[in-house]
Amino acid sequence: MMHNVYISIGSNLGDSLTTIKSAISQLKSFCSEVKVSSFYRTKPVLYLDQADFINAMIYIQTKLEPYELLAKLQEIELLYKRQRIIRYGPRTLDLDIILFDDLIITEDKLCIPHARMHERAFVLVPLCELNANLYISKYQKNVTELKNMLSYNELAGVIKL
Ligand code: AMP
Repeated sequence: MMHNVYISIGSNLGDSLTTIKSAISQLKSFCSEVKVSSFYRTKPVLYLDQADFINAMIYIQTKLEPYELLAKLQEIELLYKRQRIIRYGPRTLDLDIILFDDLIITEDKLCIPHARMHERAFVLVPLCELNANLYISKYQKNVTELKNMLSYNELAGVIKL
């Protein structure tokens, strides 16, 4: 069965745009369709003393099941030697599963919808660009309604390249 999945991609170490484009091309080996939002320059959240990020949202169709997909994404992260020294700190590549069909999974290893999606402008802005009417049953709101709950400052930190 084919699954509809949204993946957030981000980087703020090294040549972020090149890393992101190259990582997206790796997805094609296990996806029948790949659509990418615009690229955005975004202000870091929580840990502020670091470079701006490049972020985008990716829509894929895949036959992989959630944990199989997570393993593939972690392999791709490793290809770019992702380092996790500081929580919320700089990273060469971050790939997060934001939505997987309308599945709800609440485990430490995999939480879908992504636990912080509703409060992240760098997730909601590109997600709205791809599918503004997408309804999230966990929040009983669509993604545009969730985006509109963010502050002016949060939204101003996300600039289309
Ligand atoms: P982070 O360093 O914030 O990218 O977190 C990576 C960890 O989050 C990994 O150990 C994953 O198992 C876990 N995780 C939980 N939910 C998700 C998700 N929706 N997408 C990707 N990783 C997740």
